Amino acid sequence: MFDLTGKTAVVTGGSRGIGRAICQKLAAQGANIVLNFAGNEAAAQETEQLCQALGAKTLSIKGDVADPAACTKLIEQAIEQFGAIDILVCNAGITRDNLLMRMTDAEFDSVIATNLRGTFNCMRAAVRPMMRKRRGRIISISSVVGVMGNAGQINYAASKAGVIGMTKSLAREVASRGITVNAVAPGFIQTDMTEVLPETVRESILQNIPLGSLGSAEDVANAVLFLAADESAYITGQVLGVDGGMGM
Ligand code: NAP
Repeated sequence: MFDLTGKTAVVTGGSRGIGRAICQKLAAQGANIVLNFAGNEAAAQETEQLCQALGAKTLSIKGDVADPAACTKLIEQAIEQFGAIDILVCNAGITRDNLLMRMTDAEFDSVIATNLRGTFNCMRAAVRPMMRKRRGRIISISSVVGVMGNAGQINYAASKAGVIGMTKSLAREVASRGITVNAVAPGFIQTDMTEVLPETVRESILQNIPLGSLGSAEDVANAVLFLAADESAYITGQVLGVDGGMGM
């Protein structure tokens, strides 16, 4: 089950957190791993080593997903190294939280540029080579916040809701070419991104999670693995919540 032997996966934001767990999960099932990251070389190297220890071939490429040229290069280099791209995971993301009244243009624009434009840039770069092969899996990491909204995260919620709209639209565009396009919407997951939350906020979040705990990066990676595998061939345009029931 879930055999990815010989497949090549590109994972953006693969150096840390959820992206690292996705790299490890796909590597463990036999995929070649191409991981993109923004600037943390040491973390990217560590992810590569963890994947190599699982028997995977790896390549790490530094680049800002908000830059269309960097995304084109990412996909080109992946194909040059491994011959094809079978799986794209658009995971890179940031937060710049503030209440709407105080939110600066820079806070709004940077989150949209990385989370929404970045996902578009990578999808656009990957879809043509996948269409030529008449197969592919595109999985984007949205958020429960993109479905429910969250005070203080207007920019982030807009970007993640946008990812869901793009996912469904692209799913319709490429379904006839054997490519599936889905999103995973995590709830609150224990990573660097949520590490910075004050204890009081964490407590109030926990009260809204029916399963009663924060999720792990591996919980999200398990969902991505399913959507990347042959076993999910008849699933497209869907948003899979990995949120302990928070978003239902
Ligand atoms: P994280 O621990 O902060 O890691 C972010 C990753 O994205 C890092 O690998 C970082 O690279 C990379 N990155 C950031 N900006 C980038 C850019 N412009 N270009 C390329 N790479 C970039 O975050 P996380 O918690 O794992 O979150 C991963 C994804 O899940 C994000 O899309 C996030 O919105 C989503 N998500 C997270 C949660 C949660 O509770 N944690 C919940 C819902 C959704 P460097 O290491 O080089 O900085």
